[in-house]
Amino acid sequence: MRILKMKPDFLKEFLMGLEGFGALYGPKRQSGILKYAPIESYDELVLDGENTLLPLKRLFHPMRFDMFRFDSRGFEADYSIFEKRVIIGVHPCEIHGILKLDEVFLVHPPDPYYAGLRKNSAIIGFSCLPAENALCRSTGTDIVAEGFDLFFVDLTDFYLVWVGSSFGYDMILEKEDFFDENVTHEDIQIYIEWREKRNRMFKKSFNFRDMPDIIELSYKSEIWDYFGKKCLSCGQCTMVCPTCNCYNVTDVLDLATETSGRRERMWDSCMFADYSLVAGGHNFRHARADRLKLWYTHKLKAFAHKYGSPACVGCGRCVETCPVDINVLTVSEALTSCEVPEE
Ligand code: SF4
Ligand code: SF4
Repeated sequence: MRILKMKPDFLKEFLMGLEGFGALYGPKRQSGILKYAPIESYDELVLDGENTLLPLKRLFHPMRFDMFRFDSRGFEADYSIFEKRVIIGVHPCEIHGILKLDEVFLVHPPDPYYAGLRKNSAIIGFSCLPAENALCRSTGTDIVAEGFDLFFVDLTDFYLVWVGSSFGYDMILEKEDFFDENVTHEDIQIYIEWREKRNRMFKKSFNFRDMPDIIELSYKSEIWDYFGKKCLSCGQCTMVCPTCNCYNVTDVLDLATETSGRRERMWDSCMFADYSLVAGGHNFRHARADRLKLWYTHKLKAFAHKYGSPACVGCGRCVETCPVDINVLTVSEALTSCEVPEE
């Protein structure tokens, strides 16, 4: 992988010059909420490391879209969500989140909607410093080695720029003069010191490595009942999590014909009461405790058994979002200590 240097003075011109590769997207504040959205000017970009409310998954696994139109003769796929995009300002944990979604959506057969959005999107990663609830050091997702076209590490006086794909290299070639191949020993030392300083800034951690075993051993623990009584089944934890990917589909009939219509796909949540409701009215996870156990077992144990690593990238969003303080920190602490938390 090539690593280059760039002076901060060039950043604006370089990023805005990427328009030729696709519509620019990035973290942008709208009505006070930070979200990934189309970028019209450099000043809109928020590159200070703050988490967006919803993760990057919403650009690859949209909250709601039309999959196809149908009538009595057949169906026609709707790929109007595809657009050439360059997504700027993506943090390492978000890139890990997308790599986990790849495991789910790009297997055989690949999901054509996710695959199309992935194929049409370039990712320009940016380093960040740990926020209050960042857990990515615990989950090993604070650094990233793949899943990006370019990755910028902000070392104040210069950027180190990792080139992760040939498409990323094409972007570099557009403004070759902005980049310097001469990464010196002094530069490497500055990078190492930045890494060490950043590592010291993490305020929170959890026992991530041992969680698969602990979850398995805790299957009958009363800790699940304690959290189940508190849970509101609001589903916010699943919406904000970069790796949650459940969805539902609904056919919407055209009222005029009743034989034609469209199929919609929208986010679903295993925390919702009717998620495990099946024909005949039986609900496999009627109890909130059972739904919580499913979420944490899937995320911290089952995903790891199937794909080699757990489905938590340590973004900290569940810590910030759950209105009743149920999150990877509180659950892992309770399970590890084998104690029902005090009120
Ligand atoms: S479980 Fe929580 S910390 Fe882990 S990726 Fe999901 S929202 Fe982020
Ligand atoms: S754990 Fe928290 S965020 Fe998740 S459904 Fe329950 S109350 Fe909502």
